[in-house]
Amino acid sequence: MDNADYAAVALRLANADLSTLDAVRAALHDEPWWADRLREPDLPVLRGVANGLRRALDAMVDDDGETVLAAINALLSTHPPRPRLSGHGGHDRSPNWHVHVAGPDAPAVDEVAAAAAWGLAQGVVHYGTKRWGRCDAETCDTYFLDTSTNQAKRFCSARCANRMHVAAFRARRRT
Ligand SMILES: [Zn+2]
Ligand SMILES: [Zn+2]
Repeated sequence: MDNADYAAVALRLANADLSTLDAVRAALHDEPWWADRLREPDLPVLRGVANGLRRALDAMVDDDGETVLAAINALLSTHPPRPRLSGHGGHDRSPNWHVHVAGPDAPAVDEVAAAAAWGLAQGVVHYGTKRWGRCDAETCDTYFLDTSTNQAKRFCSARCANRMHVAAFRARRRT
């Protein structure tokens, strides 16, 4: 995994159902190396990380830069990235150079927490704070990063957008 993907890890964790180990593993299924090694006692740690991520994301939606700084820096000091250069996964004797945020022997929860904290910090560096949103659809609070050129994204997914457009259409027909 390279740095570019860590912002996605932050969003995945912020949006995850963290009620059970199975739910957490399902949310992180794109990273089986982490998901398979997480254990029950890691859940409270991950919930704490998710709360910090949501605090930062809510502050971005509210355009509150001070709180964005405070929340992300609190995450970074509690779950500091410990960068390690790695070359595994290459082809034909040319290493696939990339940086991990924890040593190879660190527990999975340390790496997930540091990846999320580092990912959101780097995400703000790359995209600023205005492209992060929270779905406008009823009963959906999913956070998203809007990388579109017109930056007009309101919904987390096509499914939520369709759902709300159908509801709006029905409401118009009734009046
Ligand atoms: Zn790697
Ligand atoms: Zn949604």
